[in-house]
Amino acid sequence: MSNDSGFPETTSFEVNVSKDTFKFNAAHFVAYNGFRERLHGHNYKLSIRLLGSRKICSDGYVLDFGDVKAVTKTACKKLNEHFICPMYSDVITITDEANGENVKLLCQDGAEFSFPKGDCIMLPIVHSTVEEIAIYCWGEIILGLDAEVLVKRGVHTMEVTCSEATGQEAVFRMKIPNTNNHAEIMKAVDVRSFIRTGELFPKPCLPVANEKGAGCSICSHCGK
Ligand SMILES: [Zn+2]
Repeated sequence: MSNDSGFPETTSFEVNVSKDTFKFNAAHFVAYNGFRERLHGHNYKLSIRLLGSRKICSDGYVLDFGDVKAVTKTACKKLNEHFICPMYSDVITITDEANGENVKLLCQDGAEFSFPKGDCIMLPIVHSTVEEIAIYCWGEIILGLDAEVLVKRGVHTMEVTCSEATGQEAVFRMKIPNTNNHAEIMKAVDVRSFIRTGELFPKPCLPVANEKGAGCSICSHCGK
């Protein structure tokens, strides 16, 4: 069987790039309605998969590993040794402080943080979870790689895996838009469009969740 281009539909290539240099150390806390983590940090890692090409290009590549490495390292460097500030949080009020030198975060529970601006990376995300960080990184990497070139080379989908610890990672996979227009790409990766609206479902009272103080604030099981 062949598709319109005469390429066999039973074959496909993918390129996986996962290097020791695809890492960043960053501080964060996850906050959502009724819950806030304590400030802490992770050694994050990224890995990239490019999917879909039915034939490789005349240079023998799906895509040069070197291009993926350069762009991903740049994305990691931007985040490294920063506090990840979720600009679109619906439970943290973010304002300027100290004549614009600091970023102040006022949380729902009354906790206040003030960080030097240079120590913060302001990300267009609602929660600094690995899911949302993966979406942000997907956009950065697509902008760096040139989406139109990827599509021309037959790559139709990219996957970004963001890990915060061994065995704890989130994968974001999306079709690559056939455009290099910055605004269109930013719209395609708007984190807010990937978040369900409405109330959170009540969580069961898992012992671990209770120890951390989570769970019971929205729990319908234990009555707390
Ligand atoms: Zn964390």
